[in-house]
Amino acid sequence: MIVILLGPPGAGKGTQAKRVQQHHNLMQLSTGDMLREACETGSPIGRQARAAMDAGELVSDEIVVGIIAERIERDDCAGGFLLDGFPRNVAQARALDAMLAEKGRKLDAVVEMRVDEEALVKRISGRFTCATCKEGYNDYYKRPKMDGICDVCGGNEFFRRDDDNEETVRNRLETYRAQTKPLLPYYEARGVLHTVDGMAGIDEVERQVAEVLKAA
Ligand code: AMP
Repeated sequence: MIVILLGPPGAGKGTQAKRVQQHHNLMQLSTGDMLREACETGSPIGRQARAAMDAGELVSDEIVVGIIAERIERDDCAGGFLLDGFPRNVAQARALDAMLAEKGRKLDAVVEMRVDEEALVKRISGRFTCATCKEGYNDYYKRPKMDGICDVCGGNEFFRRDDDNEETVRNRLETYRAQTKPLLPYYEARGVLHTVDGMAGIDEVERQVAEVLKAA
């Protein structure tokens, strides 16, 4: 099964993608995670991507399409995968269509996580992640049970993303509205678009996503 999770930054795509990977055996492919890793290792791709990421703009289609084309060839994607953060514009969606057609594979579902865009700045600026196991937390919605200690692994180091500051978040939202939102009618016209309520609690969103996947 091949699935796309679509929604603005902070909609909870990463959180849900991790759950889907665990419970539905679909490999999570997050272009944001891959690009951040490339930045950390200082690879040529990371060096090219960094300025756009820091500004809250899109990295070039050539780079991200190249990353995805290479990644979906690997054995761990043979059983299916879940795209989180890709495609981000119509050109990338067309490139994905071409890649899948070439391999005789098809897109099963696009899950839109619909959220109140006004609530997102607070959601994003509050988030932080366990440095050890990558469990996600939020100052406003999900604090660790014991301050400073990860509920899952007991780690005591956390980090915040560089691009989760208010100015960059506003740019990322603007980029979403201008470039990524047009993917909703694009996929609706293909009959694969489903919508879940991204404002519901994490477990409820997971339940709605699972229902979509069951029916797809
Ligand atoms: P994310 O973790 O999905 O919020 O992505 C973080 C940043 O990585 C974005 O603001 C973009 O600069 C870049 N990025 C991630 N995915 C893509 C994509 N499919 N196309 C272009 N840029 C991307």
